[in-house]
Amino acid sequence: MSADGQTPLEAELKAQIAQDGPISIAHYVAQVLGHPKHGYYMSRDPFGGRGDFITAPEVSQIFGELIGVWCAAGYQMIGAPERFALVELGPGRGTLMSDVLRAAKVMPGFLAAAEVHLVETSPLLTQNQKIKLNGAGVPVNWHPTLESIPEMPFIVLANEFFDALPIRQLQKGAAGWHERVVGLDEDALTFGLAQSEAPPAFADQGAPEGTIAEISPIRDQVAQTLGARLAAHRGCGLIIDYGHTRSAPGDTLQAMSKHGYVDVLHRPGHCDVTSHVDFQSLARNIEAGGAKTYGPVPQGPFLHAMGLEVRAEKLKEKAMSRQKRLIDSAVERLAGRDQMGELFKVLAFTHPDCPMPAPFEGLSP
Ligand code: SAH
Repeated sequence: MSADGQTPLEAELKAQIAQDGPISIAHYVAQVLGHPKHGYYMSRDPFGGRGDFITAPEVSQIFGELIGVWCAAGYQMIGAPERFALVELGPGRGTLMSDVLRAAKVMPGFLAAAEVHLVETSPLLTQNQKIKLNGAGVPVNWHPTLESIPEMPFIVLANEFFDALPIRQLQKGAAGWHERVVGLDEDALTFGLAQSEAPPAFADQGAPEGTIAEISPIRDQVAQTLGARLAAHRGCGLIIDYGHTRSAPGDTLQAMSKHGYVDVLHRPGHCDVTSHVDFQSLARNIEAGGAKTYGPVPQGPFLHAMGLEVRAEKLKEKAMSRQKRLIDSAVERLAGRDQMGELFKVLAFTHPDCPMPAPFEGLSP
């Protein structure tokens, strides 16, 4: 923070806007999260009690273990290949991958066949992942994007990755749709609308003036890449995130600091800025290459169907009473309807020749 109370990125963005005019929301989010020097993920570990937010793998090892059981079944489903890429997008501290490997190694052949490929942009988190996965017994590689991962059969996981990819916001004005932008009012960052018209955000032309719609070309492109890989190789995967089952208008851009919501324009680079994931759009883009998708289903029913209670009871057998209470509260946090159980959703995808993966046959969206 500089002497005038601004973050370094705030000063930089203001200078840029003063010179070149307002910037799109997508550009703002990309800079706030990914600016090489001042971006939120570039210099900090945001997870856990002393950070800004907590994710499911950080709540309890049970989450990663149940995902590991899913991966073990997925490995069988894709034909138990001799080698396969176990891919994670945005692996954070590496906790999910570490728990997945521990749980999935019960499947014969899984560990010997797996090469881990992590897609990560943050140098600091890459370091943390290296430490966490040191000694995991599998080769681990890092990539800036999915594209450089070798072409081979694969299982891919993404937990709270897509919400961190930038969105564009379009707002309906009196005559048409306009890009929502970040500009300057006196010396403060402020939201505004671009003068020029943008293409209609979605088919609903009857939307009232002021309606905000979100699109994310970057998310759609990652989903298309996954779909193309699934057309070429046997593979499957899970996307877990907060968001909506069907595309719908609404402003979901949000910022978090120290476990509370703050203004999206507050202290850029020091707060996490995310938005809800449009699962319908992701599924459509994955399917464009011929792959099949299942769900999304809410996280609570998904975890219950994967054996959340059984695993929790097993852990409690060896636990002291304080630990038992912690396990109970983790189960509630992960699967409770007013916690992560309903807002968070799970979308599965597979190569077109694969059968429906468990536990989707028993779950309705
Ligand atoms: N999956 C982890 C972390 C979620 S936070 C968990 O559940 O705990 C988002 C993660 O995505 C971080 O690791 C962040 O550095 C990474 N990330 C954000 N934007 C990215 C991008 N454009 N490309 C690759 N990784 C990105």
